[in-house]
Amino acid sequence: MSDLGFKRCEASSTNGLHVVRRAGTVLSLCLLQAVLLRIANSQLTEAPDFATARLRMVEEQLTAPGRDIKNPRVLDAMAAVPRHEFVPASLREFAYLDEPLPIGFHQTISQPFIVAFMTEQLDPKPTDRVLEIGTGSGYQAAVLSRLVAEVYTIEILEPLAKRAEADLKRLGFSNVKVLAGDGYKGWPEFAPFDSIIVTCAPDQIPQALVDQLQDGGRMIIPVGTLGDQKLYLLRKHGKTIEKQAVLPVAFVPMKREPEVQDKP
Ligand code: SAH
Repeated sequence: MSDLGFKRCEASSTNGLHVVRRAGTVLSLCLLQAVLLRIANSQLTEAPDFATARLRMVEEQLTAPGRDIKNPRVLDAMAAVPRHEFVPASLREFAYLDEPLPIGFHQTISQPFIVAFMTEQLDPKPTDRVLEIGTGSGYQAAVLSRLVAEVYTIEILEPLAKRAEADLKRLGFSNVKVLAGDGYKGWPEFAPFDSIIVTCAPDQIPQALVDQLQDGGRMIIPVGTLGDQKLYLLRKHGKTIEKQAVLPVAFVPMKREPEVQDKP
């Protein structure tokens, strides 16, 4: 932008008779403009860099062969949501790497590919109401919020729930409701949900969540212990639950309430 500023000034300084005096005035105006543009640019440098990194993330980590995320709405959401706003400030430069990152309290924000993969498996529709268990940073909820009507998300660690709620509000994700509570119970007040996404791993699929899933709905959930964990896609048809293992994964365990005493 500062280059463009210079060019515009040069063009206007070469016409007219009083070239020397006018050129002097124009030159100082040019310098002032250039300095102001540089200051403005230096304050904005982060935004274009993050936007470029995010587009590269979509290409290299999501649509690339072997990754094969195809749903265009999911890809658009991944290209739009600022992941760097959901990681600790000291880790922002790593926000668009192909990795999970720590978010404090011994928890992590999932790898972008896993977020995109799980979201795609839910086949989200603009009218859906979705329940998430394991708010963490709020990033997955933010991605979903662009794709569905309402997102309900539960986080067992209260400081994380509060921080995610504040971040989601600050960034304008206004169709997300956050609850500090135990995800094993679901959120009966707002059930049934068109789909449910669980981003921490229980030993078994919690019955309360199956009960709160709409007939015809989908649930994506990691089950098992670290090292022996699989992501399952469940589809509910009346009383029948169709269950399909879709990917080996490594999520943090889904805690039971009495264990909730983690320090940052
Ligand atoms: N979806 C998150 C990442 C989740 S990490 C994101 O986008 O950043 C898993 C989260 O599940 C952790 O924050 C952990 O505290 C939470 N969790 C663990 N057990 C839980 C439970 N029983 N109920 C609700 N949240 C739980």
